[in-house]
Amino acid sequence: MFSYRHAFHAGNHADVLKHTVLIATLRHLMLKEAGITFVDTHAGAGLYRLDSDFSDKGGEAADGIVRLMAALRPAEGAAPASHPLIDDYLDLVADFNPDGALRVYPGSPFVIQRLMRPASRDRLRLFELHPTDGKTLSSNVAQLGAGRAVTVTRQDGFEGLKPLLPPPPGAGGSRRALVLIDPSYEIKSDYARVAAVIQDSLKRFPTGTYLIWYPIIGRAEAHDLPRRLRTLAQQAGRPWLHATLNIGHKDLAPGERQGLTASGMFVINPPHTLKAGLTQALPLLRETLGQGRGQAFSVESSA
Ligand code: SAM
Repeated sequence: MFSYRHAFHAGNHADVLKHTVLIATLRHLMLKEAGITFVDTHAGAGLYRLDSDFSDKGGEAADGIVRLMAALRPAEGAAPASHPLIDDYLDLVADFNPDGALRVYPGSPFVIQRLMRPASRDRLRLFELHPTDGKTLSSNVAQLGAGRAVTVTRQDGFEGLKPLLPPPPGAGGSRRALVLIDPSYEIKSDYARVAAVIQDSLKRFPTGTYLIWYPIIGRAEAHDLPRRLRTLAQQAGRPWLHATLNIGHKDLAPGERQGLTASGMFVINPPHTLKAGLTQALPLLRETLGQGRGQAFSVESSA
């Protein structure tokens, strides 16, 4: 417990997939004015320095956001064709790096906060259990001066979510929520807890939008999770979407270690535009971030 630090992984291919899907989903929900409750059950530290010791050691951003930005936003020469979902993601990351050099990577709390609408009274509830990352997150959030619109709780996010659903009604009377569940899966029981919290949440608030990230690794629980989520969505009569990105295995130099190569995002109650958007955007991510054997992407949905 607590050996996972997202700073080693910030901006890697999994973050690229997760945050691209997150932004596309947020944008769609925000087409309606009514306020939204956002819950990030596993928030991380919020902001990451890409030039810190952490990211230097893992270097995972180099094969993720750094490579993507360099390929699609080259310092010199014409930029190749991109896709609106990827452009939206790159614009948001670029916003955190106003002098043009890629030094800061926004984690999910800051991705969400950057798009929140004060006039709609959107609110963001963040949970982070790690003592150090929880403190860093609190101080990063304090600098926003967002008041009660953004809160940080150092509590188990699976537990913290329950009392927040259903969300309170907004000004127009409608209840709206987007929940991101992004555990580190450091503990095997996280897979079962994700399924349990989704089952419970779909009872409390069936119309919420739920985004679940998971790693694609050789472990039965990881393999089963999207199937369990699909079954839960079907049992609740809710639409779902499942997107995966696999960057493949590169030939390793002696002593080099193969990190995570693939991950998935499972979305319950996805925007109806998300499937078409990802079907067009993911080939570009695979092409740009793919690094060897087995690179692939997939998008499947209930509709
Ligand atoms: N969502 C973040 C993002 O996209 O920028 C990354 C989150 S990281 C993958 C998972 C985080 O969950 C870690 O910072 C870890 O300390 C935290 N964590 C682990 N178990 C937790 C729990 N039960 N409740 C809340 N946070 C937890």
